[in-house]
Amino acid sequence: MLYIGTMDAATERDALIAALSWQVAMGADEAMLDEPVARTAAPPAERTPATTPGTTRAAPVPLRKPPPGGELAAGLAAGASTLEELRAAMQAFEGSPLRETATNFVFADGVPGAPVMVIGEAPGAEEDRQGKPFVGTSGQLLDRMFASIGLSRAENVYITNILPFRPPGNRTPTDAEIALFLPFVLRHVRLAAPRFLVLAGGVSAKAMLQAREGITRLRGRWHQVTNQDGTVFKAIPTWHPAYLLRNPMAKRDAWADLLLLQRNMKDD
Ligand code: URA
Repeated sequence: MLYIGTMDAATERDALIAALSWQVAMGADEAMLDEPVARTAAPPAERTPATTPGTTRAAPVPLRKPPPGGELAAGLAAGASTLEELRAAMQAFEGSPLRETATNFVFADGVPGAPVMVIGEAPGAEEDRQGKPFVGTSGQLLDRMFASIGLSRAENVYITNILPFRPPGNRTPTDAEIALFLPFVLRHVRLAAPRFLVLAGGVSAKAMLQAREGITRLRGRWHQVTNQDGTVFKAIPTWHPAYLLRNPMAKRDAWADLLLLQRNMKDD
């Protein structure tokens, strides 16, 4: 309990920052608004395409004005007609200062064309060192999670991230960084053409679904990601493995998400 009213301004500020930090450490990833949001209300007409029953469809991206360098990124992405061309275009792209601080460019791992494509947030220290996504401790957990439903990056999983460069000190990617690389990620999905997307964590889920909600609300059900050319991909958001390492109780949810994926793979 915070007794804000009896504190001086500096103490009150420190107390609020401490309370906020605690909530973030506990996994809170979105602020509640004072006014209720009608989440079930129909979106504006131009953003209401038909949906497959049981899925929520994201609007085609990008929704906002592109960030500086965004138009170049979008053009380079659109011009790539194979995964190798996309890799080369991204590697040559000089529109992000992240490439100056990162050791390696991290494109993808696993089997291109696999039925399942995982999209994480950004490389961490180990990924930056090796130039491969999800090879640190959270990657090892991710591999064990997929192994539990008979999937592996050696056979049927393909993995990438929203950002191909490690943000300094593993900080959370900024909105501008996400918007800059999103055209590349969408093209990556289009060219890899998976049957299912797994969006690992809030950054990936919010970016790919262009959602205002956090991962707490998004996970556990199917959504649709619509590519620039209108191609639709089924996507399931789930907890990021790094979050699961800090919050083992949430593994139960992640297991439910994996079972949903497994069931859909069998039915599809
Ligand atoms: N976390 C991510 O989101 N991606 C990685 O590649 C590693 C850790």
